[in-house]
Amino acid sequence: MSHHAQKTVKASVFAALLSLSFVFSNCRMSQQTQNAQYVNSSSNVSSNSTTDPLTIHRRAISIDMHADTTQRMVDEHLDINQRLADGQLDAVRMKEGGLDAQFFSIWVEPQLYGLGGEGAMKRADDQINAVRSMVEKHSDTWELALSAADIRRIVGEGKLAALMGLEGGYAIDERLENVERYYKMGVRYMSGAWSVSTSWAGSSGDEIGRTRGLNDFGKSVIREMNRLGMMVDVSHVSDPTFWDIVNTSTKPVIATHSNCRAIANVPRNLTDDMIRALAKTGGVVCVLFYPEFLEPGWSEKKKKVDAQIAAEVQKANDEEQGNIALKKIARDRVRLKEYAKLLPPVTVARLVDHIDHIVKLVGIDHVGLGSDFDGIQATPTDLSSVADLPNVTKELLRRGYSEEDIDKILGGNMLRVMEEVEKK
Ligand SMILES: [Zn+2]
Repeated sequence: MSHHAQKTVKASVFAALLSLSFVFSNCRMSQQTQNAQYVNSSSNVSSNSTTDPLTIHRRAISIDMHADTTQRMVDEHLDINQRLADGQLDAVRMKEGGLDAQFFSIWVEPQLYGLGGEGAMKRADDQINAVRSMVEKHSDTWELALSAADIRRIVGEGKLAALMGLEGGYAIDERLENVERYYKMGVRYMSGAWSVSTSWAGSSGDEIGRTRGLNDFGKSVIREMNRLGMMVDVSHVSDPTFWDIVNTSTKPVIATHSNCRAIANVPRNLTDDMIRALAKTGGVVCVLFYPEFLEPGWSEKKKKVDAQIAAEVQKANDEEQGNIALKKIARDRVRLKEYAKLLPPVTVARLVDHIDHIVKLVGIDHVGLGSDFDGIQATPTDLSSVADLPNVTKELLRRGYSEEDIDKILGGNMLRVMEEVEKK
């Protein structure tokens, strides 16, 4: 069966399982004899399932919860439907890597666009419009997904699903009604803060965030997200804010791109207690691919390298004649090159160590993927772009994960959370 045909079959099996009560499911399954292999392999008995990593990888619905490719689309006017010579993600390499659904990060960098106000809102709106018009222009390849059912249907049709999440709540401009504004524009998750604290949510990236949780307005934002069916993302928020979120949200809470502090001890990662609390909400931790948050000691080494290359970074910034966004891209280009030369290599094995750790703590139902592609200045050597995604599945298989487990990690767990959060 072709890749697409398999996806169609898979989508129809899911649809059948969801829409029919279990009373009728046996009858329904026996009608779909062509699905016999899938149905068998999805049970715990995997006797006749394939062990070919690529087959398993391509048959699964894979969802990446976070990529910053959006800013490239806005600032560099890139067409991500062709193979790009640089960067980490485009539609061609998505298909090669068997990635089916991408959450495009709508990221407002507050130092450049403000902690709120018109500048922050415009920056968010520009990115949302860029995703929406890309999808419209390439409707043969893409479709905008607003729900888990959309993802299953779009993937079943052999297309790529595009979704959006707000990174940092700056664009809501401290107004509750703006949460619904962005929901209506298609945004399906939001975090309270990126590396700079908002008045209502603390960040793991600044001093004030260490003591700042959610204030009353922040709690009302979480409740509004729960009401609308927008997922609550804790990646980047501070520890006090994390705890206030899990204690306020009545729906599963997710970390779209965070790893384990027990392995790489940085404030951006989650402690074991946090992972347990997040799992208790029914949520998912999506591991990210950045070595700084994967490899113990990498962050300290990076600080030294940053000092070493500061002049070169500044030179690239000054030589770039374009706007502030292009200057940032010029600086990051130097970092990408120098980090690869000067910092220790990390591999997919380390990424899977984080997955293992989460599974040991809270089980297989609470882990997913959030690459942060195009937002990171280094990657594991065997995961340098989305085309390398099957290497994750290979490593999971090598460590004894079943096909059913892999389905959950690649996307099944996030589909479950989306369905839960969508319930009114
Ligand atoms: Zn981020």
